[in-house]
Amino acid sequence: MEKLVIIGYGAAGFAAMIKANELGIKPILIGKGSLGGTCVNVGCIPSKKLLSISHFYRELRKRINSNQFPDFMAAFSEKDEVVGTLRKKKYEDILNSYDVKLVQGEAKFKDRKSVKVGNDIYEFERCIIATGSRPNIPEIEGLEKIDFWTSDRALSPDKKVESLTIIGGRALALEFSDIYSGLGAEVSIIQRSPRLIPEYDPEFSVMARKIIESYGVKVFLNSKNIKVQKKNDKLIVSGNFGIIESERLLMATGRKPNVEIGLENAQIELNERGGIKTDEELRTTNPSVFAAGDVIGIKMLEPLAGRQGSIAVSNAFTEEKKKINYDAVPENIFISPGIAKVGKTSSELIGNMYVKSLKVPIDSLARGYIENEEIGLVKLNVDLRNLKILGIQVISERSEEIINESAILMNAGATINDLIDSNQIFPSFSEVLRLAALSYYGDVNKMSCCV
Ligand SMILES: Cc1cc2nc3c(=O)[nH]c(=O)nc-3n(C[C@H](O)[C@H](O)[C@H](O)COP(=O)(O)OP(=O)(O)OC[C@H]3O[C@@H](n4cnc5c(N)ncnc54)[C@H](O)[C@@H]3O)c2cc1C
Repeated sequence: MEKLVIIGYGAAGFAAMIKANELGIKPILIGKGSLGGTCVNVGCIPSKKLLSISHFYRELRKRINSNQFPDFMAAFSEKDEVVGTLRKKKYEDILNSYDVKLVQGEAKFKDRKSVKVGNDIYEFERCIIATGSRPNIPEIEGLEKIDFWTSDRALSPDKKVESLTIIGGRALALEFSDIYSGLGAEVSIIQRSPRLIPEYDPEFSVMARKIIESYGVKVFLNSKNIKVQKKNDKLIVSGNFGIIESERLLMATGRKPNVEIGLENAQIELNERGGIKTDEELRTTNPSVFAAGDVIGIKMLEPLAGRQGSIAVSNAFTEEKKKINYDAVPENIFISPGIAKVGKTSSELIGNMYVKSLKVPIDSLARGYIENEEIGLVKLNVDLRNLKILGIQVISERSEEIINESAILMNAGATINDLIDSNQIFPSFSEVLRLAALSYYGDVNKMSCCV
């Protein structure tokens, strides 16, 4: 019998493998497709490389009034190089430094205590499910008859794309609208909801629209009766917004957990999101099996997947009973300026009469002013009874760094006074957090640079 079987070799599976070795356990690591899973191959890394190219040229056009766009296909080759290097460095080479048995193939539960891969059966003491997620495709009239893209295809086009329609209005839709408009394509976004990024407060949705419209992206909200068809060489998307013609259609309509692994044989149940149901310690309804990463379907983020993988192994073999504080899990949309949040939004706090929102625009900040940042805002939701920070949302350059600092504050249960009592770099973007905290006590427009 194997001590530990891990299904999936993405972020969650790798973190589980490393934690297992730390505990003196040699696991069986089963996976299919490219080593490293989504993030390094078709997720964070390739998308962020392309965004960095898009942002560099956009900044260049703005600063020196040039009309220069990057070479379309060269941008994707550059991305491939980064993906290849990081996959080797962070996954292939790493694997060689651990005590692990790698099995490539599709795993399915045979029963409560074993997994099958081809003709091989692996009995286990404990198992971690880390099978990730895949694009979710809603029903849309005509979609089954056309060759549409998901994010995987949009990261590897076979030729220059002049026009792209994106259905969706959350992080992936915004990031791909940035990438493709930055590479010179005409981009339209069709969103069914009344606003973009509905998981943020409305003022952030309004600013998100302003940002991508400044790239030249056309945005259609409240879209209904969407139909798609191919006419000649073009894809036609029609609905209450009219008719949009483009070369390619990208479905950026969320992701769903990969749960088709014979769960019924192992008596593992699903949660209301269609992911694997777990308790706070990541144990499934089968006490010998734990789950980690996108397959749980709560929040699909690389660092969260990694932490869950590590915690699942700790909880499977020790008495540590580790849990994730989901209020301290930051997320970021890597457009420019970026949009980020951690903790509770005002919409999530409706009904709590002790909440005050402290808001400061980015141009109140010396650094924002220096960098000519016109669009930007930070919002701190604070509990008036003890001045504890309940949630932070931000639009700013370096939002990913600001929200990292915010996540530390959330994890520590910090108050706005803890922020005010901290020393910070001047001039920096993350100072905006302290400025928002200071706005509780006075008008920030009447404060000098450093107070
Ligand atoms: C375009 C895009 C951009 C993203 N950008 C970011 C970002 O900037 N920041 C961020 O934090 N997150 C980002 N994400 C999300 C992030 O990539 C995922 O949350 C993370 O990679 C999930 O890791 P995982 O280990 O749970 O799953 P995965 O990495 O998907 O790994 C799952 C593994 O399980 C294997 N598997 C599945 N079924 C079986 C089976 N039956 N048998 C054997 N193996 C199986 C798969 O082959 C794969 O190796 C992005 C995602 C996408 C799509």
